[in-house]
Amino acid sequence: MTTGVVLSDELKHHETGSGHPEAPARIDAVTKAVAHPALAGRLETLAPRAAAREEILMIHWERLYREVVDSATRDKTLLDADTVASRRTAELAHLASGTVLTGVEAVMSGKVDNAFAFSRPPGHHAKPDKAMGFCVFNNVAIAAKFAQQRFKVTKILVVDFDVHHGNGTQKAFYTSPEVLFVSTHQWPHYPGTGALSEVGKDDGEGFTINVPMSAGMGDAELVRVFRDIVIPVGREFAPELILVSAGFDAHRDDPLGGMCVTKEGFGRVSELLVGLASDVCSGRTVFALEGGYNLTALEESIVSSLGALSGVGAQNFEDEDVDDSLVKGVREVHSRYWKSLAT
Ligand SMILES: [Zn+2]
Repeated sequence: MTTGVVLSDELKHHETGSGHPEAPARIDAVTKAVAHPALAGRLETLAPRAAAREEILMIHWERLYREVVDSATRDKTLLDADTVASRRTAELAHLASGTVLTGVEAVMSGKVDNAFAFSRPPGHHAKPDKAMGFCVFNNVAIAAKFAQQRFKVTKILVVDFDVHHGNGTQKAFYTSPEVLFVSTHQWPHYPGTGALSEVGKDDGEGFTINVPMSAGMGDAELVRVFRDIVIPVGREFAPELILVSAGFDAHRDDPLGGMCVTKEGFGRVSELLVGLASDVCSGRTVFALEGGYNLTALEESIVSSLGALSGVGAQNFEDEDVDDSLVKGVREVHSRYWKSLAT
């Protein structure tokens, strides 16, 4: 099995200012993770291309696009309260979105079996008309549209396990039955969306599944949600491609989240997704980096995730039984849309 790793050191030059958690050093953590001895010989490094203006405009409004491009004329622009653009951010945001497009191209053409795109700035909070939450362009949403248009993929599963709700991605596909968006996230928490009752609208009703989790929940609860909700629904939906918004800020050591997931939990969840991809879409899955702000936790969690993608072997993880009220709650809302949740 070959896993593509889409990475560029250039992405360090998106500067956010001292003390900002979404720091350039995150790319160093990624570089260290990719060089881990356990992964030796299993990864193929791919240089990303930049996304084109037209590709970004498949999701974003012209107005936001111009606002981002204009930021290149100033040392520092606040795109929102906590989203900073430096002089090279506009250029590098194109490259960040391009990491995921490069991953999709490599996977869809069969060059690699699956891929991890190390996008920075992250993307899942970016709405069609607004950069927010450290995110400039919505890398995963753009990649989903790209896969639909370039490769005629009709059904795409987007799984988002970042500790924050992927509000931008949800918004981009809220009325679409072709993109099933499933998000696990801490609740209540930034950005305030992602309630269980947000299920999609019009033709997209039932194609948004939110799993709000309490602070303090960790590996056992997350894995249970994947085993009992994400995987069965994914199998029933039978996508042709799986995109994963892989944020590692649900880690117990992360400064921005209150959840208690460990590298083993992230490994197990990644392994379940790889298994699903193998069952339904010939293994075609592309992970894209979102959050993760404790550098050690980020590095170790990426190693686990890449281990699962590249088939290093069973993750060191034992499923534990946990209170099933969380799973029951999701089933109550979504069993009318998904037979696999009716039991
Ligand atoms: Zn996050």
